[in-house]
Amino acid sequence: MAERLIVVGGDAAGMAAASQARRRRSRDDLEIIAFERGHFTSYSACGIPYWISGLVADREQLVARDPATFRESYDIDVRVRHEVVAIDLNRREVIAMDLDGGAEVREPFDTLMYATGAVPAKPAWAHTDGAGVFGVQTLDDGSALREWLDADPPPRRAVVVGGGYIGVEMAEALVLRGLSVTLVERDEQPMSTVDPDMAQLVTNAMRGLGVTIRTGVKVTALSERDGRICEVVTDDGPIPADVVILGLGVRPNTALAEAAGLPLGPTGGIRVDRRMRVTGMPGVWAAGDCVETLHRVSGMPVHVPLGTHANKQGRVAGINIGGGYATFAGVIGTAVTKVCDLEVGRTGLRERDALAAGFEFVSVIAESTNRAGYYPGARPMTVKLIAERPSGRLLGAQIVGWSEAAKRIDTLAVALWNRMTVDDMTALDLGYAPPYAPVWDPVLVAARKAVDALAPR
Ligand SMILES: Cc1cc2nc3c(=O)[nH]c(=O)nc-3n(C[C@H](O)[C@H](O)[C@H](O)COP(=O)(O)OP(=O)(O)OC[C@H]3O[C@@H](n4cnc5c(N)ncnc54)[C@H](O)[C@@H]3O)c2cc1C
Repeated sequence: MAERLIVVGGDAAGMAAASQARRRRSRDDLEIIAFERGHFTSYSACGIPYWISGLVADREQLVARDPATFRESYDIDVRVRHEVVAIDLNRREVIAMDLDGGAEVREPFDTLMYATGAVPAKPAWAHTDGAGVFGVQTLDDGSALREWLDADPPPRRAVVVGGGYIGVEMAEALVLRGLSVTLVERDEQPMSTVDPDMAQLVTNAMRGLGVTIRTGVKVTALSERDGRICEVVTDDGPIPADVVILGLGVRPNTALAEAAGLPLGPTGGIRVDRRMRVTGMPGVWAAGDCVETLHRVSGMPVHVPLGTHANKQGRVAGINIGGGYATFAGVIGTAVTKVCDLEVGRTGLRERDALAAGFEFVSVIAESTNRAGYYPGARPMTVKLIAERPSGRLLGAQIVGWSEAAKRIDTLAVALWNRMTVDDMTALDLGYAPPYAPVWDPVLVAARKAVDALAPR
């Protein structure tokens, strides 16, 4: 008789695992059932801001593989609109609710793949009966927002609460749709994924785009009129709003896991080993935004909810479930985003992370350009490097600039992954031609500056 794999969560991590397991094991050997509480499978949440802005025309373009494709081409029994409400590890069964029919379904499993993603933070003040308050965690969330924005007459005033990269991307999307946008951030800067000196450049770009940025401001309540949101109340006065986007960060979605007795780590994510096996739980695997992982520079457990990791981790889990061997090597926190044409990249540790991990370090900021200064389209590029003192090992890097800035972070990510020193980096053989870089690439300029900063005084 075939073994049975049950997948909880039908997006990046869950369906990557299911597909990989299927590649290695036939239907006769492994039956696969995937429960997804939403309407979609294998969609790109990362693409939601670009669909909201109108840059991506159709929602369907964000769906890599729909349930029918999984059924027909992968022989995976995908059940959308089914929410798993309990996992019984003793009986080895899951209990799911059919969200449309209301019926309870019980399905036994031999192997469980837990891939429920993350839950957006929703403080007490965000709970309101007024319509018009949205998160953008799933494609269903994005669809609800899009419907609200497409109403006639459309909303005119948007407030984005939270200035992480999702808040920043959503603010831009709403400006592009023609809304007047205010971004409210409790800290002194939005974009706390980079150091404040680099975040200032992002703040300036957002203001240039027409976004009103209110920093150091706390939201205390949401007011409604006639069942619709009308105002965001803050400790610095009210802000009128026809639509509110919550971008307050996420935490691992572990409620079911906890109830089932799966172990959580210090970050709140599920504890897994390098093969994505849940620690101490035979036959149970987890991947994606619901797990914690190892930061290769700080050596600490971290929760870094990014699609790039969810896909890789899901693939690793699936290969192992399929009888192969694969490991996930940890993360260094590489991420990129943009505000209009301004690109932002980061990898490794920020200054505060390096301090928290106990490193001694220098940090330098180098100003350069994306192309040879005389070449049309040359624009400023700012590179920040953080290097251990006295070894010179690269600990972190951030880049803000125009075209070719964001993906330059990959050069630095590879250097960091391979534990290069800034001295080694000054000799890197990087490509040069006037349309693509100055003769001294901004990465090399920054590395040289870091070497100077490390020189004994
Ligand atoms: C707006 C936005 C932009 C982003 N941009 C980027 C980017 O540019 N780059 C990047 O690397 N990452 C980005 N991310 C993050 C990335 O989308 C996530 O890291 C990735 O989707 C995580 O995949 P996952 O499979 O772990 O979780 P999810 O994609 O969240 O999938 C989990 C699924 O499980 C389902 N589920 C949860 N509980 C249950 C249950 N009990 N029963 C059944 N189903 C359940 C959910 O409905 C969901 O579909 C972005 C995220 C958002 C929201």
